[in-house]
Amino acid sequence: MRQEATGASTTRLTVLAGPTAVGKGTVSADIRERYPQVWLSVSATTRPPRPGEVDGVHYLFVDDAEFDRMILANELLEWATVHGRYRYGTPRRPVQEMVGSGRPALLEIDLQGARQVRMRMPEALFVFLAPPSWQELVRRLVGRGTEDAAERERRLATAREELAAESEFDLTIVNHDVHAAADELVECMGLRPAVRPLT
Ligand code: 5GP
Repeated sequence: MRQEATGASTTRLTVLAGPTAVGKGTVSADIRERYPQVWLSVSATTRPPRPGEVDGVHYLFVDDAEFDRMILANELLEWATVHGRYRYGTPRRPVQEMVGSGRPALLEIDLQGARQVRMRMPEALFVFLAPPSWQELVRRLVGRGTEDAAERERRLATAREELAAESEFDLTIVNHDVHAAADELVECMGLRPAVRPLT
């Protein structure tokens, strides 16, 4: 991992991206649970909720018309169609408010979105979450069992492209272990990692 030279006390926007099934969602869920001082952006999406997902907490679940309206009203900092299917976007105003208030803010988004944020907010910290290996990424994607074969193929094709983009990022965290990756991420954000009991 390459540490930033800006100092551990710097508070700013952090963007976490990486290939599909690398565990971005799990790492950000771990941060939500163990680091309440970090504000996690809630994306708008046209995808229907999965069991257990709560509107306004995990996503803002909207229909196509509402997503179109948000784009036209310039309410989204970035947005993208992910895996050629549903649209996802980051509401702009809460991000600006959090950055303005000095609270550490984290966006967990796809590569297309990260590139858009880089153009608009180049001062943000861009972190790439990488799998330990390609084989492990495939194993995680298949093991998750939430997608059918066609959808898995689509996601693997996206993942191949996304892996090639690692060099565009400020630093890489390898997701061997969810807690360790989350701790590493908050450390990069200038926060002190929580002490975990030995297991
Ligand atoms: P899922 O449907 O599995 O929750 O997420 C699918 C993908 O959409 C993940 O790669 C996730 O990072 C990405 N994603 C979630 N929210 C956003 C967003 O606001 N903008 C963009 N560009 N991608 C997002």
